[in-house]
Amino acid sequence: MSENSKKNDSAGLMEKIVSLCKRRGFVYPSSEIYSGFAGVYDYGPMGVELENNLKAHWWKWMVHKRQDIVGLDSSIFMNPQIWEASGHTKGFFDPMVECKECNARIRADKMLEDIGVKADEKMPEEKLNGLFQENEQKIKCPKCGKRNFTKVKKFNLLVKSNLGDFTDSNMAPSYLRGETCQGIYVNFKNVVDSQHVKVPFGIAQIGKAFRNEISPRQFLFRGREFEQMEMQYFTRPEEEMSEYEKLKEYRWKAILSLGFDESNLRWKKHDNLVFYAKEAYDVEYNFPWGFDEMEGIHARGNYDLTQHSKGSGKDLSYHDSETNEKFIPHIVESSGGVGRLFFAIMCDAYKEDELGGETRVYLKLKPSLAPVKAAVFPLLKNKPELVSKAKEVFDMLNEEIQPMVFDDNGNIGKRYRRQDEIGTPYCITVDFDSLEKNDVTVRDRDTGKQERVSIADIGARIKGAISL
Ligand code: ATP
Repeated sequence: MSENSKKNDSAGLMEKIVSLCKRRGFVYPSSEIYSGFAGVYDYGPMGVELENNLKAHWWKWMVHKRQDIVGLDSSIFMNPQIWEASGHTKGFFDPMVECKECNARIRADKMLEDIGVKADEKMPEEKLNGLFQENEQKIKCPKCGKRNFTKVKKFNLLVKSNLGDFTDSNMAPSYLRGETCQGIYVNFKNVVDSQHVKVPFGIAQIGKAFRNEISPRQFLFRGREFEQMEMQYFTRPEEEMSEYEKLKEYRWKAILSLGFDESNLRWKKHDNLVFYAKEAYDVEYNFPWGFDEMEGIHARGNYDLTQHSKGSGKDLSYHDSETNEKFIPHIVESSGGVGRLFFAIMCDAYKEDELGGETRVYLKLKPSLAPVKAAVFPLLKNKPELVSKAKEVFDMLNEEIQPMVFDDNGNIGKRYRRQDEIGTPYCITVDFDSLEKNDVTVRDRDTGKQERVSIADIGARIKGAISL
């Protein structure tokens, strides 16, 4: 059997994955019957299973396996002052362009000024756009040096809402959160006061975030609504960098345990740090267009809690009862998107090969991540004794193994192909021998090889392979 890795066909891989996602119920474009809605996607029946497995894996590694990290589920809406304190509402009207090559977002007025064109942020959008287009040949992206920009747009990433405004008044807008970590910072004191946590400790959360991305693209990679998995780890100031190194190492191990081909992953150090950050690295995945950010691990100093102490007027320093010291904890964080991880896993798992003289597509997912763990088939649909035996096997296994499917549609070859495309690791077939010998064939997804296994033994065998 020859396995063509994605590297042989990276040009078409994106289209193939998007098409498989739709065809097999992983991901649908949002609002499709109304011609769609840019930057948002819906996870279908298979997608939601894979997505939940990825989140459960993250929760296991970032909360359940750790005595020093607790979970949180904070609200999407928060007091708008939070976004002021965090710095997100500043520059609300900045005119921006985005580099289509490297996604850098750059102040259009500043770029114009840099080449000697008189411009300022208060100019109307159309005027700035005209100036930018007139001078585009002279302007290079400061990050990648290329010339391929979106239009100038005055915008802020935060998505505004009119929550609580019933009067059409000029009430200040509330926002849909642009990142989940702010909900963690503002609950720092609650967690310290209600749990037996001692610095260093972390708070982890998974939840939706919303950003007014000017050009949502690359499928799940850059959307306007997406989910984040973030863990903020509060440290003593002098331990920030040693904890940072530990977190980097731990996340690498956790990511590898998802079954990634390690050669598709790499670290990328940030060259341009925000003023308060000590160090920042991304874990990059080799997406169909090349290596790009999958998650970030950042050392953020004490910026976040300092800002919220100032903004709220509440003291967010930590009192160490053993040493009697008081300090504002420093933070190291890991921050990743569910959609980006989902897409990376799909790229990594997508395989094409030849089996029994036919080409096939299959998802080589780690069994614990597969949306369906096992499928049970009667060899023939029109033999009641096979169907009833297969149902019996299905019911017995389904007590312990979920989710599973029972399939008697079409011929056996088609059923295998359907399961291969969604990454089902085991297909169990009940045939005439099963009626006498109380055994079944178990087909391995990756090799296509079949083995006879006694019905009494299959449960334990599959269970061992699918635990997260
Ligand atoms: P980028 O530079 O690609 O815009 P970022 O550095 O702004 O990303 P962060 O603000 O650090 O991203 O967010 C942390 C993680 O959240 C990212 O690593 C990514 O996995 C995810 N993420 C951020 N923006 C989006 C988006 N628009 N769509 C999907 N996932 C996103």
